[in-house]
Amino acid sequence: MSLLGRAGAPDLSPIRDDVRAMIPFGTHPAAGLIKLDAMENPYGLPADLARELADRLSHVALNRYPPTDPRVVKTKLARAIDLPDGCSLMLGNGSDELIHIVIQACAAPGVCVVSPWPSFVRYGLITRLNGCTFAPVPLADGFAIDQAATLATIRERRPVVTFVAWPNNPTGNLFDRHVVERIADEASPGLVVIDEAYQPFARDTWLPDLGERTNVLVMRTLSKIGLAGIRLGCLCGRTEWLAELEKVKPPYNVNALTLETADLMLDHLDVFAHQAARISDERDRLIESLFSIGGVTPFVSAANFVLIRVAEPDEVFAGLRNLGVLVANVSKLHPQLAGCLRVTVGRPQENAAFLEALAQCLSGRMTES
Ligand SMILES: *Cc1c(COP(=O)(O)O)cnc(C)c1O
Repeated sequence: MSLLGRAGAPDLSPIRDDVRAMIPFGTHPAAGLIKLDAMENPYGLPADLARELADRLSHVALNRYPPTDPRVVKTKLARAIDLPDGCSLMLGNGSDELIHIVIQACAAPGVCVVSPWPSFVRYGLITRLNGCTFAPVPLADGFAIDQAATLATIRERRPVVTFVAWPNNPTGNLFDRHVVERIADEASPGLVVIDEAYQPFARDTWLPDLGERTNVLVMRTLSKIGLAGIRLGCLCGRTEWLAELEKVKPPYNVNALTLETADLMLDHLDVFAHQAARISDERDRLIESLFSIGGVTPFVSAANFVLIRVAEPDEVFAGLRNLGVLVANVSKLHPQLAGCLRVTVGRPQENAAFLEALAQCLSGRMTES
């Protein structure tokens, strides 16, 4: 018997009760499957760009810390997104870290964070991890923001931060801009973070409003356009806000390999814009095809995924997987998502395989799981 065995199980009581009660973030194994579960871009890098990247990365000084203020990448990014005057941006290890930073900078006992719900699950988890109260406001029918309920919650709870995913995940729709404007007015001086993770597929943005709307921040990420692996997000807003948030950021949060990769990729944004346009076209075709399959309701999407509703989501999820297609089963995340699966838009052949498998599942010829 090993020493470890004799010592018995460790006493985990120093870990917070709520943390011990948490379910770890997990993804389903995807080996050998058509992977339509994580909103990834299905297209890889063009071969010449991949070769150039390999060369560039071979010269990165891995013995050195990365810059604490990565000027070159920030400047290129600011130019690429047309950052308004008076605004700055900060980089994060994915948007995920930026959500942590915003909440950490505002967190205090009794403080509240609001979001229309269902939305990106990380908003709620990170809020609670920081000891704050999360106040999700249920969406109305058709996944629109319930304006009256949201404004009432903001008036009552005075949230320090309100998150609005625009387009929303997992529903895929773009909330009415006027409703979000009302939210931003009501929430002031509380921050409103517009999460534009899917902006390349929605082709609409709040960035030009940042100069005027002094309590709004816009968050972007490179994850959904084809660079999920490098983990790079950015948060934009009035320079005064960013100066405060920078104090909370870990000093070397974006690693040198990511910075070098981003530096190169930001010179080739046309590649990613072209892929995003293909994905958007393919999404529209996918939705149209879904309408022609009996037993499935697709919802409108301005993102690179489509939410669908079926009568038996668990069976369809398992059936699809048995037929080689992995999607996300979001049916138990929230009562409003009952029956729902979320399907990332893949390559044309992948989407065709998904449609065929789905039709097979729904016509009752489902393979036993
Ligand atoms: C996917 C997604 C992100 C991206 O997170 P990263 O940490 O940048 O990969 C952010 N917000 C929403 C709503 C998302 O769906």
